Parts: sequence; C-alpha cells; structure tokens
Amino acid sequence: MDDIKANFIGGEWVAGHDAAPNVNPSDTSDIVGLYARGGSAEVDQAVAAAERAFAAWSRTTPQQRHDVLKTIGDEILTRRDELGRLLSREEGKTLAEGLGEVGRAGQIFLFFAGEALRSGGEVIASTRPGLGIEVTREALGVIGMITPWNFPIAIPAWKIAPALAYGNCVVLKPADLVPGCAHALAEIIARSGLPAGVFNLVMGPGSTVGQAMVDHPRIVAISFTGSVATGRRIAKACTASVPLKKVQLEMGGKNPLVVLDDADLDLAVECAVNGTFFSTGQRCTASSRLIVTAGIHDRFVAATARRLAALVVDHALKPATQIGPVVDEGQLQQDLSYVSLGQTEGAQLVCGGQVLNRDTAGFYLAPALFTEADNRMRIAREEIFGPVGVVIRVGDYDEALAVANDTEFGLSAGICTSSLKYASHFKRNAETGLVMVNTATAGIDYHVPFGGRKGSSYGAREQGRAAVEFYTTVKTAYTFAG
Ligand code: NDP
Repeated sequence: MDDIKANFIGGEWVAGHDAAPNVNPSDTSDIVGLYARGGSAEVDQAVAAAERAFAAWSRTTPQQRHDVLKTIGDEILTRRDELGRLLSREEGKTLAEGLGEVGRAGQIFLFFAGEALRSGGEVIASTRPGLGIEVTREALGVIGMITPWNFPIAIPAWKIAPALAYGNCVVLKPADLVPGCAHALAEIIARSGLPAGVFNLVMGPGSTVGQAMVDHPRIVAISFTGSVATGRRIAKACTASVPLKKVQLEMGGKNPLVVLDDADLDLAVECAVNGTFFSTGQRCTASSRLIVTAGIHDRFVAATARRLAALVVDHALKPATQIGPVVDEGQLQQDLSYVSLGQTEGAQLVCGGQVLNRDTAGFYLAPALFTEADNRMRIAREEIFGPVGVVIRVGDYDEALAVANDTEFGLSAGICTSSLKYASHFKRNAETGLVMVNTATAGIDYHVPFGGRKGSSYGAREQGRAAVEFYTTVKTAYTFAG
C-alpha cells in the first residue's frame, strides 16, 4: 500500500478503498503510478473537512490568500520540467505541450494571487434619503470540481486558484484516467501554508465519486468540464437539489475555422494543422470543421495533406514527436469509428485515419483529413475529440459564416483572411464565446475570460477577472444613517 498515491482530505493523506494504475498511452507497459480511488465515504469526509475550514479561510486577509497562491504558483513554475514530463507521460501530449500546460497552470496561480488582493466592492448612493448602499462579494462555501483528462493540470488550476483567491474551500475530483498531475498539485498545495481542509482531493470514477459530489447537500456549487452528456446530467441534478447548487459547465465544441480565398495560404494551413491536430485533436477548442471557399480549396487541401504526412506521430516524450498518442483504447476506438463513419457518409478520406505501430505499444493514430464533407454529416456535427479534420467546401463568405454557425456548439470560431471587412464581420457574427482572426481556434491566454455559448457552456465564464462571477455571491447592504 505504501506506494499507492493517496487522497488528500482534511490535511491528511488518506487511502482509498482500492487503487487503479495510471497507464502511459505512449507505452502501455509503463505504469505512471498506482492511485487511490475513493467513494462516497471519502467525499463525505472531504466535504466535512472543507466545511470546518470555511469559516476561518473565508475571513483570512487578502495578503494570506495571496501568499498561499503565490507559493503554489512559484513551485509549479520551478518544477515545470518534472511536472511537464509527468503530464506528457500520463496524458500523451508532447513534452513541449506538457511544459506549456504546466507553465500556464503556474501563471494562473500567480494571476489569482494578484486578484486576491483586488477584492473590494462598490459604494452606491441610494435613491432614498439617509440610506447608504454597499455592494460586496462573498465566498460561496464548499465547491466541488470535476475535471476531464485532456488538461490534467491547467483545468484543475483554473478552477482551484480563483476558488481559493475568493475564500472558498474545494473538493477536487480529477479524471480517473489522469490522476497524476492532480495528485502532484495536491502535494504542492499541501506544503503551501494553506490551512487543513481548505483543499481536498478525492480520486476515483465519475459514476461514484463525481456523482456523490453532485448529490452532496453541503456542496454549494459544482464547476465541471467534460462531455455534453455528463454536463447536462450534472446541471439537471444541481438545479433539482435542495438546496439548489450553483453550476458552471464547460463542454464540447465543433469549432469552425473559415479559410477565405484571400487568406495567406501558409498561415491558414498552420492555423488548421495546429488547431485541428496538435494535442492529438483532444481539445474542446480544436478546429474540427475547416470551412474553405472554392477559390483556395484545392491548394489548401493539398498543402494541409502535405503537412500532415510530414508530422511525426510517436511517443510523447521523444524530442522529435509533434503528435502524441490518443489518450486510451476507448478514445482510439471512438476516433476510428468516426473515420469509418465519415467514409460511409460519403466524405473522402484524403490521408491518415489508420492505427500506427511504433517502438512502444501505444494508441497511435495517423492524423486524418476528410474532404467533400457536408455540414449535415455526423462527422461535421458531433465532437470527435481526436486528430480528425473535416473540410467543407463553400462558395463565399456568407455561406461560410452560415455553415460556421450551423452547429449546436458555440465555443470557438476562427477565420483566415486578409480582409478587414470580413474579419470584423466575423468577429461580430460568430455565435461563439471565443473568436480568432488569423490564429488557431485553440490556444488561449490565461488572464482573460474563457467559455462558449449554445451547447458548449452553461453558467458564468471561467478564467481571468470573469471568474469572480462564479466563485462569489453578491451582497447588497443598506444602512440608514439618519
Ligand atoms: P466525461 O464527461 O465522462 O468526464 C468528465 C469528468 O466527469 C470526469 O472527471 C468524469 O469522471 C466525470 N464524470 C463522469 N460521469 C459522472 C457523473 N455521473 N457524475 C459526476 N461526474 C462524472 O468525459 P470523458 O472524459 O469520458 O470524455 C468523453 C468525451 O467528452 C470525449 O470524447 C470528448 O468528446 C468530451 N470531452 C470534452 C472535454 C472538453 O474540454 N470539452 C474534455 C474531455 C472530454 P471519470 O472520467 O473519472 O469517470
């Protein structure tokens, strides 16, 4: 049992009722570690510890909260190389991508260390004589966080950091597939000076640990990132529970990248390859629909296919690798089923889509590109979450915009054009939370709001100063001074 990585509850490392191996998707013979799995009993303990810690933590000074967050951010950045390797080993994104994600997580803690110092309110004149009004923000209480496998450190960071900055206590359940980074983050938090119980980690499957959190009457809010189906179930449960839970959901995307005739071809190909295939296409902001006007279509497809053929798909930790493996066997099978579905639906597979063998046994898939796709096809409507691009040919800008917006999702949208007129029109009319001009649909800054519309997101935005909306509640105080 000694080498099983434990849950972190009430300031103590607590064993689960069983443990699961964390398997490297680049090499399935490499076990990253054995991680404890909790259940509803551990969730109960964690919520009780968080509740006990809340009264004192929510009344700490901004300086105390700043200092803790800065300590956490500094250690993440100091240990960036080691944590980046762990991330790439457990999730399969390339080392460069893993290092980038860890750097982002560290910067997020530093950003919210600053935000902790900024807390304040407004003094507003009353419409009635003798009254004064103050509008302030208060912490919510115990917040449950349920995170996916595709950003194992950045997503926990962008939920935990604002929660702590504004005085809340936390119970985190990371994805069962990738508990390593969340556990390493818990170790860093454990020695940061944060009082016992303010942050708790309970690892294990969503169906047990996650469900117990969603059902727990003393968790006041749930922040979730993951699939649409799970997100919808969680929202339903949170709004049906007594008392009602505040809920925030970040879910899928089917993000369009529009390429117009007047685009810089090299730049457009770069945006498409980066946005669609980097991080093995496993990003909610991935550009899975490439909507291309007829005048540049054939040149764009030929140049993109050439780039894809030259990409190195291999073990995430090899220096030359540009695309790592798919995260696990289940996701690989899902990707392959969409590759075969696309052909059945009548799209043309220009390249890729086959399983690749490498020196180590992993889940390697050649990046796939479809052309002659129609926006009504399932490969153009459903989130594949793998290295699969779908090119849709359109006549002009107006058709491109209409196709871009014809989706149940609304996370990110991009356009490649040299026209100020079309770029400006697209920025105003894309029905998404993020819009990109001449840059990939994926790849975002850490200090500005993140989130989408329609079926992609629900509730307040995450990240940047917008995070205060979810992690605090507003109080309006009236004082009669005579
Ligand atoms: P899920 O929505 O199943 O998982 C996300 C998180 O929710 C995980 O921590 C999971 O736990 C947890 N969870 C699962 N069921 C419940 C439940 N009943 N109650 C509470 N929590 C629960 O997504 P997957 O990771 O399985 O990925 C499936 C698909 O979702 C992908 O193929 C992709 O399309 C999409 N996805 C989108 C992401 C995005 O950022 N938009 C991120 C990841 C996935 P656990 O995994 O431990 O069982």
